[in-house]
Amino acid sequence: MTDPKPSAGNFISNFDINQAGLVRDGGIVKFQMNHKRELFDGLIRLHVLLHAAHEPIFGLAMMHELAHHGYRVGPGTLYPLMHGLERAGLLKSSLQRAEGRRRRLYRITPAGKRALEKARVKVDELHRELHEEGPRRLVSESGA
Ligand SMILES: [Zn+2]
Repeated sequence: MTDPKPSAGNFISNFDINQAGLVRDGGIVKFQMNHKRELFDGLIRLHVLLHAAHEPIFGLAMMHELAHHGYRVGPGTLYPLMHGLERAGLLKSSLQRAEGRRRRLYRITPAGKRALEKARVKVDELHRELHEEGPRRLVSESGA
């Protein structure tokens, strides 16, 4: 497992393993699952913020919406994610009674709106690089 070559791939893998604390848990399959989830976590959060900016949302409806976008996210992932957004001050929740059942509704906060707007600019930029311009060269032709 110890590869002294400082290739980009190894650096990213080691970084993620350390970030996720998976050295203790071990297991290649688990690592790969978490690796993929980390990649899409930010996109899922942006979807949640976007929908909360348009209407009050609750977990189950958001889960269906994410499935519509091709993200299979269970309650064990989505609820902590939404709680996290509330802890960060980007969402605000309240308990509502509907058809005899209580459900937690989330609305976006002013800080959440600002974060969404900043993210929108960054997503636009990524989109341009992905689809229109291609990635910028990191090293000049001359090597200088
Ligand atoms: Zn959506």
